Amino acid sequence: MSDQAAVTRIAPSPTGDPHVGTAYQALFNSVFARQQGGKFIVRIEDTDRNRYNAQSEARILDMLDWLGIHPDASPRNEDDRGPYTQSQRAGLHQDYARQLLESGAAYRAFDTPEELEERRRAAEARKDSYLGYDRRDRALSREESDRRAAAGEEFVIRLKAPLEGQTVVHDRLRGDVVFDNAQLDDKVLLKRDGFPTYHLAAMVDDHLMGVTHVIRAEEWLTSTPIHKLILEGLGWEEPEWIHTPWLLSAGGKKYSKRRGDPSVEDFRRMGILPEALLNYLGMMGWSMPGGEEIFSVDDMVREFSWDRVSLGGSTFDVTKLKWLNGKYLREVLSEDEVTARLRAYLNEFGEGLPTGDDTYFAAVARLMIPRIETLGDFAPMTGYFWSEDFETDDKARKALDKGGELLPDLREALAGVQDWNAESTKHALHEYAEARELKLGKVMPPVRAAVAGTMQSPDLGDLLDVLGKERVLARLDRAIQNVEAQGTETQG
Ligand code: GLU
Repeated sequence: MSDQAAVTRIAPSPTGDPHVGTAYQALFNSVFARQQGGKFIVRIEDTDRNRYNAQSEARILDMLDWLGIHPDASPRNEDDRGPYTQSQRAGLHQDYARQLLESGAAYRAFDTPEELEERRRAAEARKDSYLGYDRRDRALSREESDRRAAAGEEFVIRLKAPLEGQTVVHDRLRGDVVFDNAQLDDKVLLKRDGFPTYHLAAMVDDHLMGVTHVIRAEEWLTSTPIHKLILEGLGWEEPEWIHTPWLLSAGGKKYSKRRGDPSVEDFRRMGILPEALLNYLGMMGWSMPGGEEIFSVDDMVREFSWDRVSLGGSTFDVTKLKWLNGKYLREVLSEDEVTARLRAYLNEFGEGLPTGDDTYFAAVARLMIPRIETLGDFAPMTGYFWSEDFETDDKARKALDKGGELLPDLREALAGVQDWNAESTKHALHEYAEARELKLGKVMPPVRAAVAGTMQSPDLGDLLDVLGKERVLARLDRAIQNVEAQGTETQG
């Protein structure tokens, strides 16, 4: 099949937080479609009503928006192949289940869930290697099956999988993958409630939506022979199968939200940029031809090729993602852009952090951008810029204990600075140190501690400059008072 008219898709199930795996699939599916001049669509697979979560669909679509991945069709932008919400297509799925029944590629099974469970347990106890459906109702005659259905007995429709031989799946990344038919289950296609299962619905929809390349996670590879048989049963051509390598978490296990690995929304809350997340996901199992670590989705579209996928499985390392994010903050995006992102981030997650006026905020941002890895690092590091009511940590307290008695003189030296900026304030501190024959290392710490309450702050001149003369002198005054008060306490 030519890649020319490629139509790719993701088919997430709306069961909870948007998965990193969904973002990963969205990236590879959309990149490939764009490169081929094709289409990328999003179908919401919501037919499993037990696991359905009403907000989840919107959250998945919002996640794609946030990532900047814009599908050519989705429940938010339908086209004539829609609807793109699977539950709205149940009538179609039923029609095709019936067609499979008519042609003999599927059959009705009347077993109750309790009977099935009991028989499965017995098979387990016998240490049977096959734990699928025991195919009891496969033997029913057509007449009997019709009669029982007409009498109102509940049934499912099952695929009549071949009992012998092999089914060969050709995967673009793995070549031919051979499955023994004896191990295939007669999977349920249509449930008792008339809803299709994933297997039937996905294949019917993929076909009707014109999907040419099924690009999905490796975990679906074992379902592919079933999918192939469904397509065959309906007389439809199979798409190209591409099963991407596993995403692993640091412990070597499959990356999994349920085991506590962060979701996409968690990364957003952390202050990871969408560009950085996509860049990082692009490095999972794939690489740029020149080995570049920083690349955009556009770069990926230009350079994409399945040849450079490595199948081993990639470890998703949150520390590395944060490092990459820091690179985006410092090297890829402009300072103005990062400042705007910071402000937007704080408006969303800043918990009322008073971000001051534009010029002041921009000045603080400029100072801190080189020191943060995520947008979320900003607020906890900058409390003293926004409030007079900031904490003084242990190290700063020690610096005040040691050098606090210099503060009155230092205040005076700084009060005399006319043209207040990073240079002039530092110059004043230098002059003072020289005149008293003191080392700068004695003079600077108490000032830093007094104005920031922490020794982990930016260059002192920059800090004084951004805080401004008025704030600095007021803070020094307060520190002087505290030092004096403590002096009286210890004397008394
Ligand atoms: N609904 C499945 C999922 O949640 C789709 C699997 C597929 O891509 O076929 O991942």
